[in-house]
Amino acid sequence: MTTTTSDQVIQSINPATGEIFASLEMSPLEDVPRIISRARQAQPGWAAMDATERAAIIAKAGPRLVEESERIGRMLTEEMGKPLNEAIGEVKHSGESLDAQLEEIVEALKPRELRDENTITTMQMDPYGVCVSITPWNFPILMPHSTVIPALVAGNTVILKPSEETTAVAIEYVSILNEFLPENVLQVVVGDERHGKALVKGDVNLIAFTGSREAGQHILATAGADLKRVILELGGKDPMIVLHDADIDAAADFAVNNSFRNAGQVCVSTERIYVDKRIESEFEAAMIERTNKLIQGNGLDPDTRIGPMINSNQKQKVLAQLEKAGQEGARVVMGGGAGEGNFVPLTILSDLNHDMEIMREETFGPIACVMSFEDEDNAVDLANDTPFGLGAAIFSKDVQRASRLASGMTAGMVGINKGCGGAKGSPWVGAQQSGYGFHSGPEGHRQFAQLRTISVPVS
Ligand code: NAD
Repeated sequence: MTTTTSDQVIQSINPATGEIFASLEMSPLEDVPRIISRARQAQPGWAAMDATERAAIIAKAGPRLVEESERIGRMLTEEMGKPLNEAIGEVKHSGESLDAQLEEIVEALKPRELRDENTITTMQMDPYGVCVSITPWNFPILMPHSTVIPALVAGNTVILKPSEETTAVAIEYVSILNEFLPENVLQVVVGDERHGKALVKGDVNLIAFTGSREAGQHILATAGADLKRVILELGGKDPMIVLHDADIDAAADFAVNNSFRNAGQVCVSTERIYVDKRIESEFEAAMIERTNKLIQGNGLDPDTRIGPMINSNQKQKVLAQLEKAGQEGARVVMGGGAGEGNFVPLTILSDLNHDMEIMREETFGPIACVMSFEDEDNAVDLANDTPFGLGAAIFSKDVQRASRLASGMTAGMVGINKGCGGAKGSPWVGAQQSGYGFHSGPEGHRQFAQLRTISVPVS
């Protein structure tokens, strides 16, 4: 079963049970220009406040998100499938970290001054105007939160078009913010790809998109006609390199967790693992042992660690890639098979090569591809052999050697002996076809504002 949309209704299906979770009335497509026009009218009033005032209003939503985290978390699990503790954690984290996030954004947007002997220049960050945030379903709260908040603090009004798969949860998120925001500063459009396209074509100034490469390419091409600003956070095919001196337990813990978390439906899932031939069998055994302990099931069951695929389309895409790899000689080390309902068995593959689609194109499912190498520079070449470039990981006790390899990788974010997420203030950034612009961290926050310089002579 998959979520279906007609012209009027989105029918959201619980992916674990196949039952209808919610029927939501769509925003009529012909209303999109009116929605944009309301956002445009509300924008000057919102921009008239300074960033600190805007942040103070938004901050009130933090405790409310925390308060509502169990209720919304449960909805999230039912609408999207991830385990309840992760779903509650996603909502709670957004609320608990809001103050720190707002503080960082306000600081990043403060005017900066440059001086030389003749001129004093102030660099100020002005709003673009109306921002459209279009988001995917894999983190139904976190994804809207990552672009809506910096866009609002920068003085833009925002129209959120959440994924058609997770609209009910997104509406809850927007309702909480709208307990405090002035009218029409944040609106939600309930709809699918057609609504996304209509918004991108509409009279808007900034499009912050998180989703697939294909949709990102389409958005960039459409926005290009009017040179609208775009921020695109797209797909990935993240590699992990395990050097012979790696802590095998730590590497296997990471590999299993990061390949199968959220049923592999994470942009920075580890989809390819290149392991030194000398430790290949030990590493593979460690992965199998850990994978065997992961219980798949309905996310509401407290024992569940891994939920289903979001829908049958996503499952079919994963199975088709698996089947093709099998025909081309890949060996199923564990898992394989079709699985029940929307579930895909946790699968480890080996005997792989780079002619296979599964080694170069995003899978977005619980499949870990393990390939051995003899020469570590060759491992980097293999890791780079993909059009994507989001995250990557290297495991080795020799951090200097790992850092040298990291410098040669075509990924936006590389973790050594950890995942790709950086220290507080780091951006979330994809290289190559994984991104175009980026968000988070002071540099990311500034992408939601127009930089303007105002210069006066030194008197
Ligand atoms: P998707 O591209 O199919 O849809 C994302 C959103 O865009 C949805 O709201 C959809 O309705 C809308 N949309 C689709 N086509 C559009 C178009 N042409 N114009 C305007 N809007 C359009 O992606 P998905 O299946 O929801 O999400 C999975 C993808 O998102 C994966 O590729 C994943 O890697 C990526 N992702 C990336 C990041 C990141 O930070 N880089 C984070 C999460 C997910």
